[in-house]
Amino acid sequence: MSFILGLTGGIGSGKSAASQWFETQGITVVDADIVAREVVAKGQPALEQIQQQFGDWVLLDNGELNRTALREYIFKEASARQQLEAITHPAIRQSIIQQLTAASSAYVILVSPLLFETNQHQLTDRSLLIDAPIEHQIARASQRDGQSIQQIEKIIQVQMSREKKLTLAHDVVLNDGDLNHLYAQLEILHQNYLKLSHKNKPS
Ligand code: ADP
Repeated sequence: MSFILGLTGGIGSGKSAASQWFETQGITVVDADIVAREVVAKGQPALEQIQQQFGDWVLLDNGELNRTALREYIFKEASARQQLEAITHPAIRQSIIQQLTAASSAYVILVSPLLFETNQHQLTDRSLLIDAPIEHQIARASQRDGQSIQQIEKIIQVQMSREKKLTLAHDVVLNDGDLNHLYAQLEILHQNYLKLSHKNKPS
């Protein structure tokens, strides 16, 4: 298996901007958020398990997951989140492993906002934190999503703190300037990851 880099950061920190740059360098990026949606797509075993666990009301008429209804239910029923995660987390993990294994680029990136929180960093060889001052996170995320400052502050509050992530990550990029400032820092790291992935290769 290739050398695997875990890439994380809080909302609006610049994870997607960084991932896109790595992709332009030919590096395959597996996005945990996308995988999380894929495993509960219509016809997937995890969606059937969710239906069996909670009832037919979790499905829309077209057979897709009724995300809004499930989100509201989980909000009311404390034990439901754990039941749901007991179904989705193993499915997400399995699919991430499959996609990481299938990749053929010099090294592979797993991008996940919850890399440390969900222990997905255990699947990786090294981790990179995209860090940004909270004012930048709020400004960027509210501009991107049209969410209110209060909503974004709430999300930041429930995410693992910057300080804690800084102690866990091997590498850190401070995304507090323009995009070229971000890319210049990524370029240096990329060269190092190419070296590390080379060393990692079985001879
Ligand atoms: P995340 O994926 O961590 O939530 P994004 O990469 O989507 O964050 O960044 C949030 C928004 O801010 C996006 O619209 C992105 O293009 C923009 N952005 C990220 N970094 C910078 C930067 N250094 N300069 C200007 N805009 C940026």
